[in-house]
Amino acid sequence: MTAAVLAVQGAFAEHIAMLNKIGVDCIELRKKSDLEKKFDGIVLPGGESTVQGKLLKELDMFDIIRNKIVGGIPTLATCAGLILLAENIVNDEAVYFKTMPVTVRRNAYGRQTGSFFTCGMFAGLCGTFPMNFIRAPYIESVGSGAEVLAEVDGNIVAAMYKNQIAMSFHPELSDDTRIHEMFAEMMKA
Ligand code: GLN
Repeated sequence: MTAAVLAVQGAFAEHIAMLNKIGVDCIELRKKSDLEKKFDGIVLPGGESTVQGKLLKELDMFDIIRNKIVGGIPTLATCAGLILLAENIVNDEAVYFKTMPVTVRRNAYGRQTGSFFTCGMFAGLCGTFPMNFIRAPYIESVGSGAEVLAEVDGNIVAAMYKNQIAMSFHPELSDDTRIHEMFAEMMKA
């Protein structure tokens, strides 16, 4: 089982470390030809969604990745990755893959002081999950077919739609591997 981690910008190394820890091999998606390799899932890491979106287009990777997501490949997206998947972004002109029927607000907790840590419930997991938020978006609403997986202070911070699981915090920056294990199960199925 191999996961392809988008590695044009952002916190991709941490996802790779965590996936390797649970026995999942990874390749990095840095250029168009990397998309010809064989892989069973895609990880869209945190970082800066505007930069990632721009690079994906410049590197001619955008449409190929979008088609794979629409085609059903298991996709794990964190923070900027959630913004890339969202159908609507309330406070930005740009939208990207638009494969997930959710409306997100970028930098929803403010730009400077918007980083914090909490522990919250996450659907399907026992007990709480450690959640690191870094200039994070949150989900203002989910559309039909999308399921809310986690809420913090009344705001939606994780959702699932078909093959896509997305969250505004960074599970790869914790030592809790359960969300990555959930993703590995999706790849196995
Ligand atoms: N603020 C970033 C954006 O809007 C996301 C932050 C992150 O991925 N940690 O793209």
